Amino acid sequence: MPIAFHVDAVAGKARTARLLTPHAEIETPVFMPVGTLASVKGVPQDTLEELGAQIILGNTYHLYLRPGVETVHRMGGLHGFMSWPRAILTDSGGFQVFSLSELRKINEDGVTFRSHLDGSSHLFSPESAMQAQIGLGADIIMAFDECTEYPADTARARASMEMTARWAARSLKYFEDHKHEVPWLTHGGTAALDCPPEQSSATLSETVPPPGKPNPAIPAQSLFGIIQGGMDRDLRKESAERTLEIGFPGYAIGGLSVGEPRELTREIVESTLEYLPTDKPRYLMGVGTPEEIVEYANLGVDMMDCVLPTRAARHGLLFTSEGKISIKQARYAQDKGPLDPNCPCRVCRRYSRAYLRHLYASNEVLAQVLNTIHNLSFYLDTMRRVRHSISLGEESRFLSSVWSGPKPGTP
Ligand SMILES: [Zn+2]
Repeated sequence: MPIAFHVDAVAGKARTARLLTPHAEIETPVFMPVGTLASVKGVPQDTLEELGAQIILGNTYHLYLRPGVETVHRMGGLHGFMSWPRAILTDSGGFQVFSLSELRKINEDGVTFRSHLDGSSHLFSPESAMQAQIGLGADIIMAFDECTEYPADTARARASMEMTARWAARSLKYFEDHKHEVPWLTHGGTAALDCPPEQSSATLSETVPPPGKPNPAIPAQSLFGIIQGGMDRDLRKESAERTLEIGFPGYAIGGLSVGEPRELTREIVESTLEYLPTDKPRYLMGVGTPEEIVEYANLGVDMMDCVLPTRAARHGLLFTSEGKISIKQARYAQDKGPLDPNCPCRVCRRYSRAYLRHLYASNEVLAQVLNTIHNLSFYLDTMRRVRHSISLGEESRFLSSVWSGPKPGTP
């Protein structure tokens, strides 16, 4: 059995569920902090545990180039390498190849690209992307897809969607033939690397085994399929049908947040969700603002990831219950108040806005660390409240209870 997914409560289209993966039981809807290079920039793993991060995301493209899949595999996979006992998801590498690398050449076989680090030439195919993700050993891995650019005409979006469907079938075939090569089966698990004990495991099921040792009931990675189809509702429907026909334990909506208007993103998400099964996890890739993740959870999305909280933090942009703050502004220079009076995170409990502003203005490394901890805490708390609302059957209260302040971006 790959993963188990149990829906516990439903409110409108939203649901809370438990997603049981080899390394953790995840309560959904869940926000997944992005740890591109096996690191959520600026935040140590014990702090991520304290913040309640249940699952983090690693980027296959980056890890494949540096330090390389073989190195990570020998270190016990990503869990052992980075000493992270909870769940990990890796992306397929497709999106990064399209957005970061140079001289891409795409054909039926795969994508030939040059590394953004040293210009060396590489091929990502459905098979090699699976090989890399099996070697990295995340709990959930993604089928190799082509992220359709925006804008794209219907013929282009169709051709791209059809290739993604063929690549999904090839991804699954390779995965089924090679899934036993995952590091925790070939290197005796990650326990030898002495992962630290979890600090806040109270909410996790007692059936979840000690860190580093995969749950024997869920021994295998899970491969999720990805729905593409550009901004065309009919193509999205067809992509969903074709991907479901191949059959995966979970489904992602990809190819959004690629420059289209937000209203269009929402429309495509809402229409695509109609074609996804209710008994499988649904993952919306690469979104969004705090307001948006609440909205998408409300529509029935179970998993989301986004670089926004971490990237914005490094630029001094902080999400609070009273709206978005740019901590660099001079008006905070002598502000003794906490960043967010309603946030219980360790940054808001301890430091003033004046101090955070000073750290940022002085280009201190600590500014990035503290800002990132707060933003992640805000996102993870937002999702915690969303789950609580759904468990009470109170879908309609999401927006007002979770986001009572001004919209992000308002002064
Ligand atoms: Zn805070």
